[in-house]
Amino acid sequence: MFVLGITGGIGSGKSEVTGYFRDYLDASVCLADGIGAKLQAKDGPAYAPIVSAFGKDILCENGCLDRKKLASVVFNDAEQLKILDDIVHPLVENYIQNEMARSRTEGKKIFVVESAILIEVGYKQFCDEVWFVKAPKRIRIKRLKETRDMTESQALAVMSRQLSDEEYEKKCDYTIKNNADLETLFKRIEKRLRELNLLED
Ligand code: ATP
Repeated sequence: MFVLGITGGIGSGKSEVTGYFRDYLDASVCLADGIGAKLQAKDGPAYAPIVSAFGKDILCENGCLDRKKLASVVFNDAEQLKILDDIVHPLVENYIQNEMARSRTEGKKIFVVESAILIEVGYKQFCDEVWFVKAPKRIRIKRLKETRDMTESQALAVMSRQLSDEEYEKKCDYTIKNNADLETLFKRIEKRLRELNLLED
C-alpha cells in the first residue's frame, strides 16, 4: 500500500486532490485535521486526559468538552497549548495508524492522509511521498470568498499562521500546482501517479 500525504495552505485545493483519490481511485482517505475534535467527544479517548489536565471548567453543562472554552485557555499560552497537543497528537497519530492497518488488511492500494499541518506534526515519517498542493494566494482568496464566505483579511490571517510556499516546497517531495481548472488538476495528479507506477494507462 502506497501512503501519500497531502498538504498545503488554506484553500489551496487539498480536499479536491483527496476527493479525486476517494472518488476515482477507490483509495482510503484520512482527513487528519478533523480527527482531534472527534477524539475529544465524551466517549473519545482524548476526553478524560483533557479533563484531568484542564479541570471541569472547560466542560459544558451536559458534560461535553466546550471546545471554545478550551481554545480560550490555550490561546496565546504556549505552555498550555503544549499540554493539549501532547495529549491529542499521539492519539490522532494512533488513530491514523489504525486506519492505515485496516486499509492494508482490506487490500487498498493507496492510503491518503490529508492535513494542513502534516509537516509540523511529523506525519511525513510514515508517508511514502508527500505532495504540496500549491496555488497562488489571489486564487485561493477568490475561492475562499466564493465558497466559504471568508473575507480577504480572514483568509490572509489564516495563511500567515501556516508555512510559506517556500517552506512547504522545501519539505515536501512533490508539488502539485492547482492554478487552473479541476480537469487540469486531475491530469497533473495522474501524471505523477504514472511516474510512480500507481496508475495504469
Ligand atoms: P482547507 O485547508 O480549508 O481545507 P483545501 O486546501 O482543502 O482548504 P479545497 O477545499 O480543496 O481547499 O478548495 C477550496 C475551494 O476551492 C473549494 O470550494 C474547492 O472546490 C475550490 N477549488 C479548489 N481547486 C479548484 C480548482 N482547480 N478550480 C475550481 N475550484 C477549485
